[in-house]
Amino acid sequence: MRAGSVNSSSGGRAFPTRHPRRKSAAVRRKVQNPSGMATSPKIPAGYADVLARIARAAQAAGRDPRAVALVAVSKQQPWEAVAPVLAAGCRTFGENRVQEAMARWEGRAEGLTLHLIGPLQSNKAREAVAFFDVIETLDREKLAVALAAEIQRQGRTPRLYVQVNTGEEPQKAGVAPPEADAFIAACRETHGLAIEGLMCIPPAEEPPGPHFALLAAIAARNGLSRLSMGMSGDFETAIRFGATSVRVGSAVFGDRHAH
Ligand SMILES: *Cc1c(COP(=O)(O)O)cnc(C)c1O
Repeated sequence: MRAGSVNSSSGGRAFPTRHPRRKSAAVRRKVQNPSGMATSPKIPAGYADVLARIARAAQAAGRDPRAVALVAVSKQQPWEAVAPVLAAGCRTFGENRVQEAMARWEGRAEGLTLHLIGPLQSNKAREAVAFFDVIETLDREKLAVALAAEIQRQGRTPRLYVQVNTGEEPQKAGVAPPEADAFIAACRETHGLAIEGLMCIPPAEEPPGPHFALLAAIAARNGLSRLSMGMSGDFETAIRFGATSVRVGSAVFGDRHAH
């Protein structure tokens, strides 16, 4: 059984005002929160392991480990898998659906950095701009128009990544590599959007290295220094090819369908 799973749906954070005895806050917490999660969070094994592997991969590539950020992909994970990672200090999470993300994180998002890593419909641009700190899936003109309008209207500017479909897979989102330069230019010049970096999801059945290299080359020639690439199965390779953030789900939280 997971630590914390014996608690109520509050995730073990409900210890505010009942019977404030003359005890230190720490003692009070210990009494009312027998799992001890809030006072001495055990670092979940998957999370600790991924952090260590990121640091090792960066060092092996001669890079500063602090230059590679972990986006913990919490999509479709039960809260009892997410809560301990949050308690252990993770502050950056990735979600692939706007509504799901809002249902999960609304009211809990203070101090967190939330990334949208799934496809975005332009009719959801309003919610996405209002809710997310980073939108990684900008990949077409219509969406650029919608995001620009919402950024203007709301006065809130999420950081933006252009998604590139490096494998040119028909079922996958992302701008095709031959069109990437023109699309990035249009985002900047026509729509006035600041682009922070590029994102890709290589084809599942191919070695990812060439796709990461392609993304890095497109970024370099467009003056972009941030690369969101690498998932549970390939984030160390991505770091070798210059990833500045890796999006890791199952290696951090466990399998999405095992719960
Ligand atoms: C689900 C997802 C991830 C994380 O996948 P894992 O294999 O669980 O690490 C990363 N990026 C995107 C775009 C995803 O949809």
